[in-house]
Amino acid sequence: MTLLDVDALSVEFRTRRSLGRRDVVAAVRDVSFQIAPGETLGLVGESGSGKSTIGRAVLHLLRPRSGTITFSGRDLTAIRGRLPAELRRAIQAVFQDPYSSLDPTKVIADLVAEPLVTHLGLGRSERRERAAHALERVGLERRHLERYPYELSGGQRQRVCIARALLSEPSLMVLDEPVSALDVSTQSQVINLLADVQADSGVGYLFIAHDLTVVRHLSHRIAALYRGRVVEDGGAARVADQPAHPYTQALVASVPVPDPVVQTRRRELRRRLLAAAPQRAAEPADGCPFAPRCSYAFEPCWSTFPVATPVVGGGHVRCHLYDQTATTPQPIATGLGMEASLTSLEP
Ligand code: SF4
Repeated sequence: MTLLDVDALSVEFRTRRSLGRRDVVAAVRDVSFQIAPGETLGLVGESGSGKSTIGRAVLHLLRPRSGTITFSGRDLTAIRGRLPAELRRAIQAVFQDPYSSLDPTKVIADLVAEPLVTHLGLGRSERRERAAHALERVGLERRHLERYPYELSGGQRQRVCIARALLSEPSLMVLDEPVSALDVSTQSQVINLLADVQADSGVGYLFIAHDLTVVRHLSHRIAALYRGRVVEDGGAARVADQPAHPYTQALVASVPVPDPVVQTRRRELRRRLLAAAPQRAAEPADGCPFAPRCSYAFEPCWSTFPVATPVVGGGHVRCHLYDQTATTPQPIATGLGMEASLTSLEP
């Protein structure tokens, strides 16, 4: 059963240049994925990869140029204007900065209970009881009801945002960099909380983050985005431990590790993976968008966008290193863990 089905989604933005000419920027190109109830899909990529744009399209905050977004069997892209109230309740969001998401002039009781006023019109005492219960569900206490946002830590504020989203009993949550503003120990607490909530309620998550390590902890599957395109997808463990695409390998190699030897080797791997081809710096119109930064780039990369090729261990990769035959995945990097990749690049 599919909760969310995103099919061939493309999003464009128009920019205005100084001479009045309009440029069109393709922020998301032909992206497809599904999320089942109780499942987490992690969208990972650098800043500007289009991951937050996809989240905003799912939340109906912008209109895609083409493609469909189907939630519980309803085509959201066919709905003009605001979503109906029942869909706004069913699809909730948690964003990166919990402080800017909370009105600093209101106490937590009123902030958490906002959806109850908006969606259900409940009376004050019942709202308060439900808000207290929601806070307890995310590890806060009744005494926090009378606090203002500035009196809470960053982790507590993000728990308030999660509690507020949960009050609507959503079946899908878009989590857009929900732990990026938190310190490492608070990050793991919030990730564990989100995992517990999912286990209890069966909510599906679209989890958007730039840090592949964070994404891996909560995700069942991961899709790596580069310049608005999915370049690799698969099970979370396979993508994080055995990344096939050079870009995903670079993302993994950019994650700091405590071992200084491994860290030095990862830094070297990342440097090699991102060695730009200086003679062709511009992104090719029809080729692989990663070509200007990819040290593996060869002739087809500059003229043809790679097809999705199955990867040993599950999922797909869009890279010409793997599609030299029509049906058989090539063993150039498939099945190689990061350590194996590092070894293969040793001089
Ligand atoms: Fe590099 Fe070519 Fe693969 Fe793109 S298709 S990631 S340029 S090897």
